[in-house]
Amino acid sequence: MTSTATARVMTVEDDPIVRADLRLVLEDAGFGVCAGARDGIEAVDLARLHAPDVIVLDLGLPLLDGVEATRRILSERDVPIIALTGRSSSLATEAIEAGAVTVLRKPFGEHELVDTVTTALASHTQKLRNESRTALATVLGLVGYPETWAEDLERRAYESGRLWRQVS
Ligand code: CA
Repeated sequence: MTSTATARVMTVEDDPIVRADLRLVLEDAGFGVCAGARDGIEAVDLARLHAPDVIVLDLGLPLLDGVEATRRILSERDVPIIALTGRSSSLATEAIEAGAVTVLRKPFGEHELVDTVTTALASHTQKLRNESRTALATVLGLVGYPETWAEDLERRAYESGRLWRQVS
């Protein structure tokens, strides 16, 4: 990945019109849509196959509901999941409990979707940076180097594009 890498989004939505709409809005905003899952089972499979940077997932899905799909995807890999719902608040709460970073209520505007995806990616990137810095400090401490070097090493790794960053 380079500094100009496009963030890869996976959408999960059973309604083909809404699915196409999500793709259009996200691509217009400069994101790459790497996969569009149609049900909960496919969501888990495609998340594993494509390793997207972020997932936009409708909670009302056939075969496997969105809350359970969220749980399964996150048990395999840490990825920000934005849950979409037009339904009860209890479902939104369940999604957050399952690990979704946020819930967008339908109907939502294009800007709201794009802003939410951008924010989720930015927070996740920051979280990864903090984690990699902590891990580096631990390793440096173990081999006897000053742990303060971690900050510098992590920054250089980030700048060389080993961690995804937002296209400015
Ligand atoms: Ca649906």
